[in-house]
Amino acid sequence: MDFRLSEEHEALRESVRDFAREAVAPVIAEHYERHTFPYEIVRQMGKMGLFGLPFPEEHGGMGGDYFALCLALEELARVDSSVAITLEAAVSLGAMPIYRFGTDEQQARWLPKLLSGEALAGFGLTEPGTGSDAGGTQTRAVLDGDEWVINGSKAFITNSGTDITALVTVTAVTGTNPDGSKELSTIIVPSGTPGFTVAPAYSKVGWNASDTHELTFDDCRVPAGNLLGARGRGFAQFLRILDEGRIAIAALAVGLAQGCVDESLKYAKERQAFGRPIGNYQAIQFKIADMELKAHTARLAYYDAAARMLAGEPFKRQAAIAKLHASTVAVDNAREATQIHGGYGFMNEYPVARFWRDSKILEIGEGTSEVQRMIIARDLGL
Ligand SMILES: Cc1cc2nc3c(=O)[nH]c(=O)nc-3n(C[C@H](O)[C@H](O)[C@H](O)COP(=O)(O)OP(=O)(O)OC[C@H]3O[C@@H](n4cnc5c(N)ncnc54)[C@H](O)[C@@H]3O)c2cc1C
Repeated sequence: MDFRLSEEHEALRESVRDFAREAVAPVIAEHYERHTFPYEIVRQMGKMGLFGLPFPEEHGGMGGDYFALCLALEELARVDSSVAITLEAAVSLGAMPIYRFGTDEQQARWLPKLLSGEALAGFGLTEPGTGSDAGGTQTRAVLDGDEWVINGSKAFITNSGTDITALVTVTAVTGTNPDGSKELSTIIVPSGTPGFTVAPAYSKVGWNASDTHELTFDDCRVPAGNLLGARGRGFAQFLRILDEGRIAIAALAVGLAQGCVDESLKYAKERQAFGRPIGNYQAIQFKIADMELKAHTARLAYYDAAARMLAGEPFKRQAAIAKLHASTVAVDNAREATQIHGGYGFMNEYPVARFWRDSKILEIGEGTSEVQRMIIARDLGL
């Protein structure tokens, strides 16, 4: 057992850490306040190869692994979560389904643009009426000659409405299975297809520099060849994508939790109260020690889940544990970091205010904490 990173992973982590500090930190607060999408940062991440990290070189990727993606997400989220979730959603929800399930033609058409960061893809699973219960999907797709006709809507879809969004993959009911359950399939809908409407951006509590929209499909027609993988495989496809995605979200949550430690340490050394830096008081020291402990144990949980996935072993339970634990830790650390900053922690100019706003969604997106507990309990045989 060896928890040390390889030289390649360590070098990647350092270069993303430098990028986050030098290119993201100085500009992200303004994007966050104005709710603007950071196109220039995305362009630079593309040049660094971050969008292609876990994909083979033959598709235009960097030939790395999913763990490399997780390390990059952790370092980005240590500075800002909007940027980190943009990368996470672009890779693990956007490009990954096309890489895992797409035909040669679909891969050749879409992957080069997605893996270079020149274009983004959204993953449309959640609907206004159903999220955790994805089997409750209402969006329908009917085969009419050589076209799918899609009707329905999707809610909260990340990266679905930027100027560089090329497509969304949409989960839709395409029939009825022999046991009477819904037949779910996944269909690629390119941006700009008639009948596909992107609503104005949501007003969110956090992740304010990331892109999230409701989508509507009104007799939206796409070629029959836009089916992703086999018909009726939609359920199995999104379960696989979400299992992996949970490890990535856990890494992002660890980054936020560690960023809270970074900012709290700095502040505790500077801020004076009763004639001494507040970091001299044991009450503050213990808070920071607990925050470090939580970030560390959550990191081990996602390392474990990623290692099992890369070894080809079952990892569903470990991914759910990592996501559940890391998101809880992120919320805990954001709360304590704000407390350590006192009144300044409630001011938007301090990064901890952003961490606090950005932490809560981690207990909701890509499966709520309750859903993670359901997955763990089920895997234990309950
Ligand atoms: C900013 C943002 C970005 C997102 N990006 C995407 C995206 O790119 N693509 C996408 O498809 N989705 C995306 N989502 C959707 C996200 O994954 C869902 O919001 C999430 O899965 C929860 O679904 P829901 O909101 O419908 O809540 P619900 O499923 O309605 O849950 C409401 C509450 O009930 C609880 N609950 C539900 N069922 C049970 C049960 N059986 N037992 C106990 N408790 C239960 C839940 O845990 C939760 O607390 C995004 C959401 C947000 C806010």
